[in-house]
Amino acid sequence: MRPYILAEANWKHIHDQPIELVILPWGATEAHNYHLPYATDVIEADTIAAESARLAWEQGAKVMVLPTMPFGVNTGQTDILLDINLYPSTQKAILNDIIEVLNRQGIYKLLILNSHGGNDFKTMLRELGVQYPAMFLTTCSWFHTLDKSTYFDEPKGDHADEMETSLLLHLRPELVLPLEEAGDGAAKSWKVQALREGWAWAERKWSQVTEDTGIGNPKAATAEKGKRYFEAVTQKISGFLVELAKVDVKDLYE
Ligand SMILES: [Zn+2]
Repeated sequence: MRPYILAEANWKHIHDQPIELVILPWGATEAHNYHLPYATDVIEADTIAAESARLAWEQGAKVMVLPTMPFGVNTGQTDILLDINLYPSTQKAILNDIIEVLNRQGIYKLLILNSHGGNDFKTMLRELGVQYPAMFLTTCSWFHTLDKSTYFDEPKGDHADEMETSLLLHLRPELVLPLEEAGDGAAKSWKVQALREGWAWAERKWSQVTEDTGIGNPKAATAEKGKRYFEAVTQKISGFLVELAKVDVKDLYE
C-alpha cells in the first residue's frame, strides 16, 4: 500500500494524516496510431503521477494522488471509433465537485496533472478560483516539462509519436504492437499560414490530418529512451510537488 495513492490507501491510515497537496491526474481514452493502447494517456498519467508523488513523499511532502480521470476532451476526433469525448463544460462540473470536497475539508492545494493535449484547464481554474478563494489551484502538462529534442530523434510529433511510444515500451511493453505494425504518423499541416506557424489556433479535424491517428513517427522509439525520459520528467515534477506542498498560499510572491 502506497500511502500517497488514494486508491490504495485505507481510512485507518489516512483519517488523521495531514495532506498538503492533492494531485488529480487527467488523461483521455483515444486511438493512438495502430500500435498503442487507447489508455495510453491514462497509463502515462497514472505512472508519472505515482512516481513523482513517491519521490516527493520521500522528501517529506504530504501529497495524495487521486484516481486518474480516464476521459478527456476529444472534440476533434468525433469520427474516430470509441474516442470518448468529455466536453470542457463537463470537466469543469467534475472539477467543481472535487474542489468543493477539498475546500470543505480544509485541503487547499490542488494540482491537475494533465496527460492529454486536448485538455486545457486554465480557464476553468480562473473561474473556480473566484468561487473557491481559499483554494490554490494549479495545472501542469507533464509533456511540456522537458525539451523533447534532448531525449528523442523525432521530437516533432505530439500524438503516439516516438516519445509516447518509448514511454509505453518502458511502462507497459506488453500493450505495444511490434513497431512494424505502426503507421508512420505522417500529418498534414494547415494551408493557412498563421495556423501553420502556430501563432493562431483552430482545432484540427484529426481524421483529415492523419491516416493512422498518430502525429509523429514512432519508428525510432525504444524502451531505454522511454526510461530515461520518464525518470527525468518525474524527477522534475517531484521538485514542483515538494515546493507546492511546502509553499504558504498566503505568501506566494517574492
Ligand atoms: Zn497520448
